[in-house]
Amino acid sequence: MPNSDSILRIALQKSGRLSEDSFRLFKECGIKFESGTGKLKTSSSNFPAEFLFLRDDDIPGYVEDGVADIGIVGENVFIETNRKAETTYRLGFSKCRLSIAVPRGIDYQGIDDFQGKSIATSYPRILGNFLKEKGVKADIHEISGSVEIAPSIGLAEGVCDIVSSGSTLLSNGLKEVEVIFRSEAILITNKKLSKAKHDTLNKLLFRIKAVQTAQNYKYILLNAPNDKLQDIINMIPGMKSPTIVPLAMEGWSSIHSVLEENQFWENIEAIRSAGAEGILVIPIEKMIY
Ligand code: ATP
Ligand code: MG
Repeated sequence: MPNSDSILRIALQKSGRLSEDSFRLFKECGIKFESGTGKLKTSSSNFPAEFLFLRDDDIPGYVEDGVADIGIVGENVFIETNRKAETTYRLGFSKCRLSIAVPRGIDYQGIDDFQGKSIATSYPRILGNFLKEKGVKADIHEISGSVEIAPSIGLAEGVCDIVSSGSTLLSNGLKEVEVIFRSEAILITNKKLSKAKHDTLNKLLFRIKAVQTAQNYKYILLNAPNDKLQDIINMIPGMKSPTIVPLAMEGWSSIHSVLEENQFWENIEAIRSAGAEGILVIPIEKMIY
């Protein structure tokens, strides 16, 4: 049983656009817990962690107050709520942008068009900072949802909202004119974490990094004639150096290596023209340098 001082309380979004990837991340880290049973709190059976399932807007406040030790939240929400916590790790999922949009028929020239106009948003703080920086005095009309309909009902000349594909804007007759913030999921931490909890957090971060590094790399196996081995090895150097195993067929070997996925696609033609055959690319689950 872990010492209760070291149990990390982790705040996750109960259900929404952060939940699935957050839950998957812990699963890939080998941390087991029950989710989706309607419970608001649960413990892990194999890692010193407790999970709280919350509305995403409440996560920064809970982490600031120490009700939760860490949390996963969109950076947009973290900045907007203006709560005090450390940004410990950028997780790379739930990527989206906060943009200003106007009705499609408008001939938009630039942000100065908004002088004296109004913009509807659920992000008054981020929008306010942006307008201030640009020296634009516009009225910020704060609404909590369905921001896109504001222009068509005469509430505001423009909107500022989360965009990922832009299809919601399109279906509401709007066009994106300014990107004001780019967001992704981040792991935030209470500023006064105890030493024992910090140790647990470091164990968690070690696992997260191993999982995320592995996702960018592939294990590659290929066959090559022995006189071409050196050329191919130069193209796929691996973590330390590739493994070379002789094939049963005289004069041929199998090369095993690890390669960044992008590097693989960039080099594949060269690897093939150097004489490689039977190329297999296999996902890696965890990777520790
Ligand atoms: P809650 O009920 O927890 O308050 P919500 O409706 O406020 O949820 P979601 O729509 O689930 O929030 O979005 C959560 C976060 O996911 C957003 O704050 C943003 O960081 C990110 N996000 C929003 N829309 C998208 C999208 N289309 N694609 C990827 N990420 C997104
Ligand atoms: Mg919310």
